[in-house]
Amino acid sequence: MARYIFVTGGVVSSLGKGLSSASLAYLLQSRGYKVRLRKLDPYLNIDPGTMSPFQHGEVYVTDDGAETDLDLGHYERFSGVIAKKTDNITTGKIYSDVLKKERKGKYLGKTVQVIPHITDRIKEFIKNDSSKEDFVICEIGGIVGDIESLPFIEAIRQFANDIGKKNALFIHLTLVPYLKSSDEIKTKPTQHSVKELRSIGVQPDIIICRSERPIPLEHRKKISLFCNVNIKNVIETVDVKTIYEAPISFYKEKLDLRVLDYFKLKSRKSINLDPWKKITKIILKTNKQINIAIIGKYVELKDAYKSLDEALIHGGIENNIKINLIRIDSEKLKVSDIHSKLKDISGILIPGGFGKRGTDGKIAAIKYARDNNVPFLGICYGMQMAIIEFARNILNLKKATSSEFDKKGLHVVGLIEEWVKNGRTIKGTDKDLGGTMRLGSYEAKLKDNSMIKKIYGKKIINERHRHRYEVNINFKDKFEKKGLIFSGLSPDGLLPEIIELKNHPWFIGVQFHPEFRSRPLAPHPLFSSFIKASKNHR
Ligand code: GLN
Repeated sequence: MARYIFVTGGVVSSLGKGLSSASLAYLLQSRGYKVRLRKLDPYLNIDPGTMSPFQHGEVYVTDDGAETDLDLGHYERFSGVIAKKTDNITTGKIYSDVLKKERKGKYLGKTVQVIPHITDRIKEFIKNDSSKEDFVICEIGGIVGDIESLPFIEAIRQFANDIGKKNALFIHLTLVPYLKSSDEIKTKPTQHSVKELRSIGVQPDIIICRSERPIPLEHRKKISLFCNVNIKNVIETVDVKTIYEAPISFYKEKLDLRVLDYFKLKSRKSINLDPWKKITKIILKTNKQINIAIIGKYVELKDAYKSLDEALIHGGIENNIKINLIRIDSEKLKVSDIHSKLKDISGILIPGGFGKRGTDGKIAAIKYARDNNVPFLGICYGMQMAIIEFARNILNLKKATSSEFDKKGLHVVGLIEEWVKNGRTIKGTDKDLGGTMRLGSYEAKLKDNSMIKKIYGKKIINERHRHRYEVNINFKDKFEKKGLIFSGLSPDGLLPEIIELKNHPWFIGVQFHPEFRSRPLAPHPLFSSFIKASKNHR
């Protein structure tokens, strides 16, 4: 039977519960155990699919087509365990499931209540499809004390009781602040947070204390005493310089061994942290750097392109170079400013996006990349914009556009049903918007002798998608005659998946999101190649 580890947070949010859970997963796996990671989110959206990246950061897409919280990206990148639809749930989804059941009369006339019906549904989620795991790590979003997270905490309390406390472990991550004015480390917020947690029935077994500086033993003792946790299990995590140090830091603090001790398990393998040490060194010690521009709408919030930022850094690791990410707001990018804004840039990336705002800036930047031989990577919307740019400026189809933002015009990009009779019908263009796109992993066939085939080193690839609109395949010959090659197609040949420009050092657009598959210990070939080309550019 699986053992369950619940990770809650206290004092403030953004302490790195996701990263801590992901690092723990990595360590436990390296000790020879099989691990799954799950996230329980207390908000009312059914999933983050309809949330603006400004609000909640990036939407992470799984192979099996779920739009999930970006923490699942951390989990995958650090642990290598492929996340599934069943690994992320929200309050909205829980209620929606319970209410659907209620409408069908499945509760046999009973009063439907938070306890037991909502908590039962949460417990079902935690347990679902986990029988083959050694450990299931469940992170509870938000912090203890939030009204929204109460049913989740209640559910994990019940869950531990149901399966026996020896099979369930509670980890609480808190902040131990340092006060500059009095030159003191303060444990009181942690004490209060644990008090809050205990008042709703959960006694933490391990406390992870996030702190700016090392926590002296006497303070750890205080936390141990007041929070009723063995001193060995009061673990500190001092701010690291790069997130890739996190597994090393938790290893030093023996977090994985404390967890194994709790469950009376032995380590099955010794851990080799050399790969993490190696990349940490590259990140911290490499002096050479290049500027990569990300031109998009959501540049203000750092997490809006989380996986993308990560994938670029991974590409840098592979090429031994530091990536300086220059975020440029496409809405503010004036055509007249393009040259001055982009002259020191080694590579231009246009990420995924939605709607008309900012398209002119993106198209102008693509033209600049094409004319000036600057390496260019267009992802999803970025590829669609590259098609529009080429159609307008090279094919002289001045009205070329996408039906996503211009109902008139010439639709070189649009809904496939606009040109394929009985084509894939997309629900929800004017009704529900959630979960209605082409989502998840799909195959693409790569063209022989193409640059993309050389980069991937294989003919068939699988990548994750999240889009509604497509490049219109009927224009293929027109584009190819002028040197923009459709070098990857869906297996049925109907959907352009990749475009690349002949006679340009590196100009590639992809309809999918390769960033979701890149990992620090296994950088994605497309990003490695893009960074290599950018490094050679200047
Ligand atoms: N808005 C575009 C579409 O729906 C692109 C989406 C994206 O970039 N993820 O097709």
